[in-house]
Amino acid sequence: MTQRTLAIIKPDAVSKGAAGAILSKIEQAGFKVLAAKLIQMSFDDAAGFYAVHRPRPFFKSLCTFMTQGPCIPMVLEADNGIQKWRDLMGATDPAKAAAGTIRKEFASSVEANAVHGSDAPETAAFEIAYFFSALEIH
Ligand code: GDP
Repeated sequence: MTQRTLAIIKPDAVSKGAAGAILSKIEQAGFKVLAAKLIQMSFDDAAGFYAVHRPRPFFKSLCTFMTQGPCIPMVLEADNGIQKWRDLMGATDPAKAAAGTIRKEFASSVEANAVHGSDAPETAAFEIAYFFSALEIH
């Protein structure tokens, strides 16, 4: 089933100049990029996006990290796209990420882990609409 997911190239990856290499991996894996933009989030932007993580001890640190520089949210589409993108990202902790995954190659820590991906159809719908209007998705 064709599915859309929300991906973000996080500020750590943008600042180290890895955005192009990550986008290349996305295209080589067969995703269609339906939308993409470079944005700078405020703390409140990040807090709204990560609202489900508010009770977790790393919430403030995560929101601060996501505002340290520009990031690139994208809408990706592929067959089984949500799981396919999570497989290409790799485990949250880069020390546990499999060879060939984006986090294995580009993440620096469990927090500065290069990319984000929606984890379910409901979160994908919320996250896509958080960054993109219908008119921005092609
Ligand atoms: P994901 O779905 O693999 O991105 O992981 P989660 O939904 O569990 O966490 C969201 C994001 O919070 C991760 O991508 C990391 O940037 C950050 N994060 C997760 N676990 C930790 C942690 O233990 N410490 C810190 N500082 N950040 C974390």
